[in-house]
Amino acid sequence: MKAVRSATAAALLTLSLAGGACAQAAPAASQAAASQDAAPQAAAASAPRSSFHVRPADDAWRARLPRDADAATRAYLERLPADAVARSNAYFEGGYWLQLWNFLLGLGVSWILLRGSLSARVRDACARLGRVAFARDALYGAFFAVASWVLTLPLTIYQGWIRERQYEMATQTFGPWFVDQLKGLGVAVVLLALGAAIFYAVMRRARERWWLWGTVVTMAMFVFAVMIAPVAIDPLFNTYKPVTDPAVKSAVLAMARADEVPVDDVYEFDASQQTTRVSANVSGILGTAAVRLNDNLLRTSLPEIRAVMGHELGHYVMNHIYKDMSEIALVVLSGFLFAKWAMDALLRRRGAAWGLRGTADVASFPLLVAVFSTWMFLATPINNTLVRTKEIEADRFGLNLAREPNGFAEAALKLTEYRKPDPGPIEEFVFFDHPSTRHRIHDAMQWRQAMGTP
Ligand SMILES: [Zn+2]
Repeated sequence: MKAVRSATAAALLTLSLAGGACAQAAPAASQAAASQDAAPQAAAASAPRSSFHVRPADDAWRARLPRDADAATRAYLERLPADAVARSNAYFEGGYWLQLWNFLLGLGVSWILLRGSLSARVRDACARLGRVAFARDALYGAFFAVASWVLTLPLTIYQGWIRERQYEMATQTFGPWFVDQLKGLGVAVVLLALGAAIFYAVMRRARERWWLWGTVVTMAMFVFAVMIAPVAIDPLFNTYKPVTDPAVKSAVLAMARADEVPVDDVYEFDASQQTTRVSANVSGILGTAAVRLNDNLLRTSLPEIRAVMGHELGHYVMNHIYKDMSEIALVVLSGFLFAKWAMDALLRRRGAAWGLRGTADVASFPLLVAVFSTWMFLATPINNTLVRTKEIEADRFGLNLAREPNGFAEAALKLTEYRKPDPGPIEEFVFFDHPSTRHRIHDAMQWRQAMGTP
């Protein structure tokens, strides 16, 4: 999904399509990586070579676990060896810089397309091929998908493959990884062609109020993408099949039935062919639902599986997808208002030089992407906090449903593989779209202390 995410992010104006789903362990793309020439380089350079590992614990260890939430949290965190913490910190902090490099590279792509009127010339070529406006804009959308994919490929390879290999999370060799990227490009070409054609048809009619109608059509496309992803996009990258382990199936279905989630099967997918990360989700809107967990999670223990799936079911039961969409609509609306102001100013100054005819001209799409992604980049702490707040809710819901505080803490320790375990409060506010390991374990131990469970 990495390629799909990055490509469609560009496509739908850097809106993360996976934003609605739980990113319990969203593949490589969303979390970032270190850079060669960034400040945390020293930390990255000293990252130990040994594999990420957590000191194992048994029933005797759990029996000795202090009742007090603070002390129990410390006991869990002490099971992370110093080299594992250093490795996690280096990986995650490098990600802060990668967010910056990705943003700047995106601006660079827009700059390359706009200067010398390249974008305008491509529009004219698309007009000769496409004749009607809808076809012209669809062709332009396909061109933009390919151009941005090619121009960002070096960073994509570093972030998605080289760096994931360095940290031993990628399980693919380069060939299969690159094939996945090509599939992602194919998805992006289709979505962007369709998206650009519809978006600019609306832009031409909406005129001065394009920011309002642009939001409506963007959200409609977002809902469409969320609906088709589980059936039309996800299966391109992984194989989904019903869970065969009867203990796992009945445990997850029991929790789903307890909360009236409309499912009668549980699916597993072979994420281990791409990554070592543990991941699961409950997807579906408008009365549909699908419970899916990956094979890395299936290799953990039943208490961990129950704890994680309790969290995922929480997203569904608490209607997080609809809350996400409402919030995203506000972010898009504010972003388009900002874009209208910025684009009007930029087009007055540079429009003629770039060969652009206004905001309803598909050739101005790189400018819209640049301006909108600037808004999204500045809004990173707000967006992360909106997502993280719902993740904390789902954590508490999962504890209430699964009643597995130790299973949940155990799973949280494993997620340290790619998320810094113990950040400062400001760092967590700005950069974390999920609570940190310490935060999650402390919530679980707080629950355990208050409820007096083992
Ligand atoms: Zn979640």
